[in-house]
Amino acid sequence: MSHRGALLELVVAARASLEWLRETGIEYVPPVPEGDVAAGQAMGPGDGRERSRADLAGRPVDSQARAEPVTRRPPGAAVSDLFLPAEIRDAHTIADLRAGIGDCQRCKLAPHRTNLVFGVGSPAAELVFVGEAPGHDEDKTGEPFVGRAGQLLTEIVVKGMKLRREDVYIANIIKCRPPQNRNPEPDEIASCEPFLVRQLELIGPKVIVALGTFAAQVLLKTRTPITRLRGVWADYHGIPLMPTFHPAYLLRNPAEKRAVWQDIQLVMKALGLP
Ligand code: URA
Repeated sequence: MSHRGALLELVVAARASLEWLRETGIEYVPPVPEGDVAAGQAMGPGDGRERSRADLAGRPVDSQARAEPVTRRPPGAAVSDLFLPAEIRDAHTIADLRAGIGDCQRCKLAPHRTNLVFGVGSPAAELVFVGEAPGHDEDKTGEPFVGRAGQLLTEIVVKGMKLRREDVYIANIIKCRPPQNRNPEPDEIASCEPFLVRQLELIGPKVIVALGTFAAQVLLKTRTPITRLRGVWADYHGIPLMPTFHPAYLLRNPAEKRAVWQDIQLVMKALGLP
């Protein structure tokens, strides 16, 4: 990567990180005094250098106190990893990631939910379906796609693809039900999407299927309507992504099942399924 490309990646990652911190209520990040990054963990009391330091609230702190360790870039890690919250960066398994989310209170959906709907299926799945957000049934059970739309998705997987539901992985863009099933809002997506991104990284599927307008547009960062996106392979960080109609849309428009079946056949071909 060129210096310019690396710098751009750094700026984008820093911005995303600061937005994340703001969403979680942190309004101020103290500047790192010149030299601290280079000094890293070696700096401590008695190193003879005076620095003015401030805490998260901007209050000065004892310059002789031991400095917090400075995060160093682990060999092979992307620059942007440094800006991820620790519970995402340090999650090396799906179970770690679930534990890191905990009893999530990071966005305004938390007080409305019954259960956080993390995702379900094989952590080594070759195929991941991504929907929008949990609905009423999913909120009650803690499992994605278990209501009427979910039953249709299960039919597609089991009857259409001849797979078991537990062979694939199913998740949503956001993990908590928006009140009255309204669309998720940008701040809610910003809080939740990094967990899905990590989930997808950890699973490392061969193919992702984005179910419906919302999932396709958020994952692909586009405003193109699903009618134009569906049936055409897209790229999600190097993973082939197939946008298709949402099963809830198929319940209202059964004639579109034919189009979804065409999309699913492309997916099956990509996975080498008969
Ligand atoms: N619709 C979705 O997008 N996700 C679910 O989990 C259920 C319904």
